Amino acid sequence: YARVILPAGSPLFEEGEAGRAAYLIVEGGIEIFLRREGGEVRLATRGAGEIVGEMALLDAGPRSASARAASDCSLIPITEDQIRYRTSQLDPILRMFLGVVLARYRDLMPLLNRSGPGSDLAAGTAPVGSNAAIARLMMERDLRRGLEAGELELFFQPIVRLASGSIAGFEALMRWRHPERGLVPPIEFIPVAEESGLIVEITQWALSEVGRVLPEIMRAALHNVAELEGPPFMSVNVSGHDLALVGFPATIADMLARTGLAPESLKIEITESILMHDPAKAAQALELCRESGMGIAIDDFGTGYSSLSYLTNLPITTLKVDRAFVQAMMREPRSRKVVQTILRLADELGIPVVAEGIEAEAEAEALVAMGCAFGQGYLFGRPTPLPETLTLTRA
Ligand code: C2E
Ligand code: CA
Ligand code: CA
Ligand code: CA
Repeated sequence: YARVILPAGSPLFEEGEAGRAAYLIVEGGIEIFLRREGGEVRLATRGAGEIVGEMALLDAGPRSASARAASDCSLIPITEDQIRYRTSQLDPILRMFLGVVLARYRDLMPLLNRSGPGSDLAAGTAPVGSNAAIARLMMERDLRRGLEAGELELFFQPIVRLASGSIAGFEALMRWRHPERGLVPPIEFIPVAEESGLIVEITQWALSEVGRVLPEIMRAALHNVAELEGPPFMSVNVSGHDLALVGFPATIADMLARTGLAPESLKIEITESILMHDPAKAAQALELCRESGMGIAIDDFGTGYSSLSYLTNLPITTLKVDRAFVQAMMREPRSRKVVQTILRLADELGIPVVAEGIEAEAEAEALVAMGCAFGQGYLFGRPTPLPETLTLTRA
């Protein structure tokens, strides 16, 4: 993490300046004070684990006091970007309350002045955010840095035709090649990206990366047409934030036009929860995506509040049955019935199904017997980096 090292006595910020960052104190102490005629008024000293400079960051006002290192300090900046998105997502009432509280606190500052030099009136600051919140903020900064440093990477997992075992397409699954932590799985950083809004930039990156590598994968696949039964498609995971962006369908259409890829070669995967959040808006975005020709898959089908109405209302082209059902299917007759029912329903609607998380031959066989056309899982291949993926299609 980019830390700021501040030797004892050095200024951190001055009263009246525009505040662009707050600081988490990792080591040392920061003194907060006012410069007034007749000397300085010390307001507070904050130590490790506490935050300074948060007010200006929250209400975009000038610094209400000056700050300097009381001892050698190590600080982690929390930037405007990290806060702006969060405050914009706040409930409007809460945002108003926050504004009122900050304004009152600012009005109070001159009064603190009166209590005289060396006063500790404001020193009893409440301990800030939990360790978990701070860890999130640090992770978020690191993720932004990683994105800019090109540390994100797509792995590709084959989706096969169950009847023949041939590769029909791939799902792009993200990894973070962290310089210190090694290969970080998406479960550890996608939720942070979604919470911070950074997911939007990450998805844009993923889409442009797919635009770059898919032609390469297709060229490799040409050497293996017999096994492939046609050019492979690429499935990309998309979050609710992405879909809520007004320009999202256009961005994808642009990427397709720029790369000359056939629109059918791209699929977006969305979960049911995205549809539930703002069904009207999601429907609108999906219609636009569908109009440009790309496919739309419902991911983890059966795990959310499966509302069957969207299957008929929305332009869904694929259902992905969640791994949980596939894995329970062999043990529990009821799970098998659920899978069977999903397959019948999809068949009635003319929507092809991909069964996720197939690990055993017996699972694949049972699914074929039930009429499931596509499968994905460790049995057919794990998610692999681009070079291995290219040899897969060439094999
Ligand atoms: P998902 O979209 O449901 O992706 C399938 C996950 O199941 C992947 O985990 C995959 O590696 C794993 N998997 C595939 N076959 C098997 C199997 O046979 N057995 C088992 N046990 N697991 C299998 P992964 O790559 O760790 O991704 C986890 C989740 O992270 C994804 O679930 C998806 O929700 C999210 N994710 C991954 N990449 C992206 C991305 O680029 N953007 C977004 N928004 N989310 C992503
Ligand atoms: Ca997926
Ligand atoms: Ca899934
Ligand atoms: Ca999943």
